[in-house]
Amino acid sequence: MINKILIANRGEIAIRVVRACRELGIKSVAIYSDEDTQAMNVRLADEAYHIGPSNPSESYLRIDKIIDIGEKCGADAIHPGYGFLSENSDFALACKKSGIIFIGPSSETLELVGDKMRCKAMMKKAGVPVVPGSDGTLEEVEKALDLANEIGYPVLVKSAYGGGGRGIRLANEEKQLRQEFEMAAMESKSAFGRSALYIEKSLSKIRHIEFQLIRDAEGNSLHLFERECSIQRRHQKLIEMSPSPAVDPETRDRIGMIATKIADISDYLNAGTAEFLRDDDRNFYFIEINSRLQVEHPVTELVTGVDLVKLQIQIASGKTIPFKQSDLKLNGCAIECRINAEDPLSDFVPSFGTVPSCVIPYGPGIRVDTYLFPGCRVSGYYDSLIAKLLAWGRDFDEAKGRVKNALNEFYVEGIQTTIPLYKTIIDDPAFIIGDLSTDYLDRFKIFDKVHIMAKEYMKKNVDAIVATALLHNVLVKRGIDMQQKTNKRSRWKEKGTFAQGLNYGI
Ligand code: ADP
Ligand code: ADP
Ligand code: MG
Repeated sequence: MINKILIANRGEIAIRVVRACRELGIKSVAIYSDEDTQAMNVRLADEAYHIGPSNPSESYLRIDKIIDIGEKCGADAIHPGYGFLSENSDFALACKKSGIIFIGPSSETLELVGDKMRCKAMMKKAGVPVVPGSDGTLEEVEKALDLANEIGYPVLVKSAYGGGGRGIRLANEEKQLRQEFEMAAMESKSAFGRSALYIEKSLSKIRHIEFQLIRDAEGNSLHLFERECSIQRRHQKLIEMSPSPAVDPETRDRIGMIATKIADISDYLNAGTAEFLRDDDRNFYFIEINSRLQVEHPVTELVTGVDLVKLQIQIASGKTIPFKQSDLKLNGCAIECRINAEDPLSDFVPSFGTVPSCVIPYGPGIRVDTYLFPGCRVSGYYDSLIAKLLAWGRDFDEAKGRVKNALNEFYVEGIQTTIPLYKTIIDDPAFIIGDLSTDYLDRFKIFDKVHIMAKEYMKKNVDAIVATALLHNVLVKRGIDMQQKTNKRSRWKEKGTFAQGLNYGI
């Protein structure tokens, strides 16, 4: 029986978990760093404890401190969210040792799937299709060169412990592979503490398609269909949707079954994701398991009606999954845009500070998971994700129309966001016909289109300033207080920055 859950995370996902606890009548406990004293999850949780300085290594990544708070406040379970310690087998083990339920897989499973190379080799042995590449980690560059000659360039150098798009390097020929291998070894060592590298054939014109998994302690293994996550920058997802325009019902069943088999092989417990790449010849290749709740889990919630966080808590408390595979139906279409505090016009440079005001959209079919509120802080210490904008529709067109409305209504003052980029994508012909691939942004020169949109905004802005000046003259002549009368008409003038104006659609 779980009565109290400590949420070992921050931001929108911490709020998401508080809400699930509330619905289930479970007490929730927040932890917060110096930077997050005023955060929304801290205000919403039943209890909140300070964990340390803003730097994650001194707060949200401190296993000892978190377990200590968990024990002192009497938490029965810990929900790790995503990122931070969510896939850390030592953390799961520490929870177990102190008698606290870790809401996720066992530490053994986390260790297995956390080593991407080992996991891939195990799945290959079991007949799961994987991307051609090394069967184990490569200690020396000479071995990598031999293998690259065998499978053919281009190849990717990957870190066995990489994640969040980090630790992946492309090599088109021998000399480059030597350089990248060396760089990757150093990077992997400093970022993940270990330099285990492997290589993989770099596939071209691919889609990233993943399956949501759920498995209980009795071994019931189900999939909740796919999510298409091909719109990415630097191997990180930006827009996700379900269903994928590239998956027909037969493929959904076939790959879904492979995904549930992957969960069985790794003795998986709770919610997870099996990630695949799909090439132009419709072949699917397994790449990794994400052993946690996924950022984009609400996409699946909208098309299946299943609350994944509540289900996670129920499975962690020993309950079996209350439905069968055949009970699940994929209903309509859901699209998610990850709103990041980054400037899409300047190579996604992070943008942070206080948000004096914001307008969060709503309306038919709209869901926004966010930690924003007027006056909140967007910190440079943490992940740049500030909100997830989701729309559900009976079909893709309806969902797309709703996302577009919501993007036009979404306003975040004081920082740059990825909203202008999504406004461009949502009207892009390739996006509309579902011609997606992981190089989508480059292939369709999306950034050129964002810049054109920005220029049009500038032009409109200049016209507006001229119009306002003319109006000013007329009004002054009439002896009327110009300020009052023009405020409404020159809305764009007050908006300050360029990208903010774009956020407003003017
Ligand atoms: P998702 O599909 O859930 O977004 P990601 O692989 O992008 O999966 O990771 C989710 C979150 O966890 C992101 O916020 C990412 O920055 C973070 N993350 C994942 N793995 C790592 C890692 N090894 N090091 C640092 N951050 C990570
Ligand atoms: P991470 O653990 O960082 O999420 P993944 O292995 O899941 O790393 O890959 C992240 C992204 O990198 C994929 O969605 C895809 O865009 C790209 N990628 C990974 N492997 C390959 C490959 N073999 N060929 C081409 N692109 C790949
Ligand atoms: Mg991945």
